[in-house]
Amino acid sequence: MAKAKKKILLVDDEYFLLEILKDRLEFHGYETVTASNGKEGVEKAVAEKPDLIFMDIMMPEMDGLEATRLIRANADTKNIPIICLTALGRPSDLENAKSNGANDYMIKPFQAQELLDKIQAYLGKTGQ
Ligand SMILES: [Mg+2]
Repeated sequence: MAKAKKKILLVDDEYFLLEILKDRLEFHGYETVTASNGKEGVEKAVAEKPDLIFMDIMMPEMDGLEATRLIRANADTKNIPIICLTALGRPSDLENAKSNGANDYMIKPFQAQELLDKIQAYLGKTGQ
């Protein structure tokens, strides 16, 4: 039986960034789910039970910090690793991401390879 693909939830309000990341991750054998704001991100986390979440911080409707907090507060999703994506990279933002429950963060812009390396660090090699 083929190994189940690891599922990654991408939450970002930048449509083109989502599309690029989705294509790249699917090319490397991951299943992806996307959401365009924090509220939708929380809903998808609960509904889809991804193996890993990439969470933009600055988004309309609900920001990534609040979404991260809500995912951590839910017994069904509290153990899913969350990596925040920040365009700012200010020490206070990085501290905020961690204090709201993020496991890690990446500073935009980043190379696709950095994203893949981060995924492997959390999930190991894919089943490919
Ligand atoms: Mg944003």
